[in-house]
Amino acid sequence: MVLHQLKTRGISSEKILSAFSQVHRHLFVPEAYAGYAYHDRPLPIGEGQTISQPYMVAEMTQLLDPVPGDRVLEIGTGSGYQTAILSFLGAVVYTIERNGLLLENAEKVFRRIGMKNISSMTGDGTIGWEEHAPYDGIIVTAGSPDVPPALLKQLAPGGRLVIPVGPRSSQSLKLYKRTGSGIISSEHGGCVFVPLVGKHGWPAEG
Ligand code: SAM
Repeated sequence: MVLHQLKTRGISSEKILSAFSQVHRHLFVPEAYAGYAYHDRPLPIGEGQTISQPYMVAEMTQLLDPVPGDRVLEIGTGSGYQTAILSFLGAVVYTIERNGLLLENAEKVFRRIGMKNISSMTGDGTIGWEEHAPYDGIIVTAGSPDVPPALLKQLAPGGRLVIPVGPRSSQSLKLYKRTGSGIISSEHGGCVFVPLVGKHGWPAEG
């Protein structure tokens, strides 16, 4: 997976490649899918949600570029795989998941593998997590119609926000940086994520 899916597609950071070698993806997928854990694709994790494709997790991590001690807010814990990669890289991670059952499952895995520096809560991540702001990095792992204003507000000077933005059907991966002269944004290709549902995201369906 690391060689064929990540390195050949431009993931060049040795520390990120090492994290993907050492955080085992099969621990974060339902048992029925364990045999597909290192395939080049997202997988169902229950509750209509997915664990993202390994390359997408790596690409977002490389854009976020966390250094040890960085305070990182993650919106959309899902399986907890991205959370664990960030924690492995030494970030202090705050993660929010709107689905309580998925969060419980992810927390079980964090305990099982002894992941440290992760604080989690069930809730609507589109309003951020004011209590622990500002963040050096914010990563949103669900597709948003636009950038939730609270997330830009909770970004520290020099902070980076990585978020898929666009229609429900497909998005563009965007990076926002808070610089001395304001927010600078850049685009990093197309992607398809499950919707970010909440006050500053999409309405819940049904
Ligand atoms: N990063 C995850 C992983 O590695 O497994 C993948 C996350 S999955 C693609 C997106 C997650 O975002 C889902 O679990 C979904 O329930 C969650 N989500 C959607 N809207 C949310 C919101 N407003 N706040 C928090 N979580 C949200």
